[in-house]
Amino acid sequence: MTISLSKGELIRENNFIGGLWVPATDGAQFTVTNPATGEVVTNVANSGPADARAATNAAAQAFPMWRDTLPKERAAVLRRWHALILENANSLGELISLEQGKPLAEGRGEVAYGASYVAWFADEATRIYGDIIPQQQRGKRMTAVKEPVGIVAAITPWNFPLAMIARKIAPALAAGCTVVAKPAEDTPLTALALALLAHEAGVPAGVLNVISASRDHAVATVADWLEDSRVRKITFTGSTPVGKYLARESASTLKKLSLELGGNAPFIVFDDADLDAAVTGLLAAKFRNGGQTCVCPNRVYVQDGVYERFAALLSERVAELKVAPATDPAAQIGPMINVRALEKIARHVDDAVRHGARVLTGGNRLPELGPHYFAPTVLADATPDMALCCEETFGPVVPLFRFSDEAEAVQAANDTPFGLASYFYSQDVRRINRVGRQLEAGIVGINEGALASEAAPFGGVKESGYGREGSKYGLDDYLSIKYLCQGGLD
Ligand code: NAP
Repeated sequence: MTISLSKGELIRENNFIGGLWVPATDGAQFTVTNPATGEVVTNVANSGPADARAATNAAAQAFPMWRDTLPKERAAVLRRWHALILENANSLGELISLEQGKPLAEGRGEVAYGASYVAWFADEATRIYGDIIPQQQRGKRMTAVKEPVGIVAAITPWNFPLAMIARKIAPALAAGCTVVAKPAEDTPLTALALALLAHEAGVPAGVLNVISASRDHAVATVADWLEDSRVRKITFTGSTPVGKYLARESASTLKKLSLELGGNAPFIVFDDADLDAAVTGLLAAKFRNGGQTCVCPNRVYVQDGVYERFAALLSERVAELKVAPATDPAAQIGPMINVRALEKIARHVDDAVRHGARVLTGGNRLPELGPHYFAPTVLADATPDMALCCEETFGPVVPLFRFSDEAEAVQAANDTPFGLASYFYSQDVRRINRVGRQLEAGIVGINEGALASEAAPFGGVKESGYGREGSKYGLDDYLSIKYLCQGGLD
């Protein structure tokens, strides 16, 4: 795939620290590849602890100035950043597709989605209210004000290279925090492009710092932030094991944490569901980004009475999905991110078939398209002893489990350590009320497969993490409450 930008425009290969583009301290680099072809896109800085420290130094120096800006000044900078992101939507969409592999329409969609958080938090910056606490004693005035927590370290995954980092940087800057950020090894270019646009938008030097690192450098690089008491918060999106590791390792400096972790979303189709709507909702929820999203249904529970009909309707639609590189305008499913991802998907399908699953469509790799393609797959007769029931597959595979009554479905849906998204389809208003309350998840889709919105609180319960991104709650994670008690006023 060629990209319509010249490198000089949006692609940056160095770290962005203190308002400057600088190579890694030791000059190291790693290679970014196009997952559709395996071809090299470019080389970027391979940072280590010294680079992480330099970023923190810059963020620490900028913090008092940024903290003391007026909320409306921060909002104005964020609005300019938002406008620049949208002005560059096509180029950014191409960049996302180039390094991440999603179809171009989805790449552009991600730009709009990520930008919506920037606009949202520009507005929220001007609504950081405190409280005047009703007087408890004569001569005393008690107030509560909200202050930025300080330096925020943002660590993000590869599946949404723009949206995941935008929805951390935007609230942090809105709150008056400064940021050090490390995107995923597979997708550093979009994050660096965002830093470039933030700089152009007027984000002052040191307020936003982005460094890239390869997987084998990530631990030592991030460790510098974990151990540095000047970094007051970690905001992380990624897998549950890494989230737990960050929680443990940041305990020595007791940082505030937001953890957006893995999911294992159930999707329940009751006998009384509108089946066409359920199929459409499942396709939207499951096959976005080729099944590589944290809110993708991973386990689909279908009630006895509609099981075979739903399976047939679904398989027919899934078999029609167009698998192709991002450059093909008809593409609906792109390549998986890397070989590790592809192997996990193949392992889940093989294991399911060994345990008795029936392949209704797909089930195979597509090497003729490139190194990382897997056919959209529907498996019938899935059972709890299959690996795909308890592990996130993170690929285009739909396993269909059978159930006979509501209590059984809810029990199975909740039988997981995870609790990010869940979905169900039913037309019975009392059942909707009951099941909506009973599902253990931070997000519940009811007769709806597309749930994300900057106005909604996004986040999980159980081992899917804590904290919320977006919505009126999203800023709280970047603020601390200070209680001021003034005496001698009588
Ligand atoms: P990951 O392996 O946990 O990596 C996420 C980020 O953490 C990457 O930047 C990664 O760097 C870095 N990292 C990995 N190990 C680290 C360590 N020991 N110390 C410091 N940093 C480390 O997750 P992923 O495979 O990229 O992303 C997929 C996961 O993210 C899935 O579980 C998905 O459900 C979850 N996710 C959750 C949400 C949500 O909102 N809840 C949204 C999207 C994705 P490298 O890239 O260099 O390894």
